[in-house]
Amino acid sequence: AQERYSSIRDLPAQAKCGTVVQLHMNAGLMADLPSLNSSGAEGVGLFRTELQFLIRNQMPRRAELAAIYARVMDAAGGKRVVFRTLDIGSDKVLPYMKPQDEPNPALGWRAIRVGLDKPGVMRMQLQALIRAASGRPLTIMFPFVAQFDEYREARAFVEGELHREARLGHPLPEKIEIGAMLETPSLAFAPRQFFEMTDFISIGGNDLKQFFFAADRENERVRRRYDTLNVSYLSFIEQIVNRCNETGTPVSFCGEDAGRPVEALCFAAMGLRQLSMRPASIGPVKNLLRRVDLREAKAVIDEARASGIQSVRKPVKEWLQTQD
Ligand code: PEP
Ligand code: MG
Repeated sequence: AQERYSSIRDLPAQAKCGTVVQLHMNAGLMADLPSLNSSGAEGVGLFRTELQFLIRNQMPRRAELAAIYARVMDAAGGKRVVFRTLDIGSDKVLPYMKPQDEPNPALGWRAIRVGLDKPGVMRMQLQALIRAASGRPLTIMFPFVAQFDEYREARAFVEGELHREARLGHPLPEKIEIGAMLETPSLAFAPRQFFEMTDFISIGGNDLKQFFFAADRENERVRRRYDTLNVSYLSFIEQIVNRCNETGTPVSFCGEDAGRPVEALCFAAMGLRQLSMRPASIGPVKNLLRRVDLREAKAVIDEARASGIQSVRKPVKEWLQTQD
């Protein structure tokens, strides 16, 4: 399927209106890295580090992780890699960490909540990332931030580890970016200072959508009930983009929906300029984006929203049929 899109692989995802949307890929294993070149992705917009923890039966050591992260950066050959810190809990349970007995794991002790409450593992991972970067740029992203202070605390941990590494005489990253995933509706309403402090924000649509509609992402029966192109959800995405734009905070979208061409088009029409998706989706998404004028797409969506319709999918698809 990738061959079908090979003719546009090295071209930008530039819409007819001239707007360019950056397409990055999601990864989690070393084996994913060759796709960076074959797909034409501009970087790794989401590297899910928990996979390295999930495939083992004991906690990986710092040196082991540092070696893996360094190899990932080597393989990326200077392209940006966004390392998401350990995102466990909910559906991802580590065999060697006693699972908590929780009535509602998706709303439970997971991701950054674990990292902040038991910082040993998080600090070890941050040290591994800093050592792997050693003189190169480093990008770290914290999952499941629900309120400003969680980001502030997590950021302080990174700063603490940078100081520690400097004291130990280790080389520091050339520069460092520290981002937050927006996966709970609460964070969209965080104070302006949050948006000013974060180096970038990435919308985790898989979780965000489940919490927006209160519909379990693992439960087909309720999940399918709510269209990603539902006007409420799209308007919410648009509001998030607007808040980020007010403070000049770069914003991307890295949930699975970004890899669906019609969804990706609607996100771009809502103002998103960076999307991260599975490598096989880059070709199809780019192909569609290059065929359309995003201002026209926005007008179609606005008209549909004003009409009181529930989802813009049908009008957008009808409009697409009229495009060459
Ligand atoms: C998301 O929630 O959209 C996301 C990218 O994280 P994950 O799917 O790993 O929870
Ligand atoms: Mg998530």
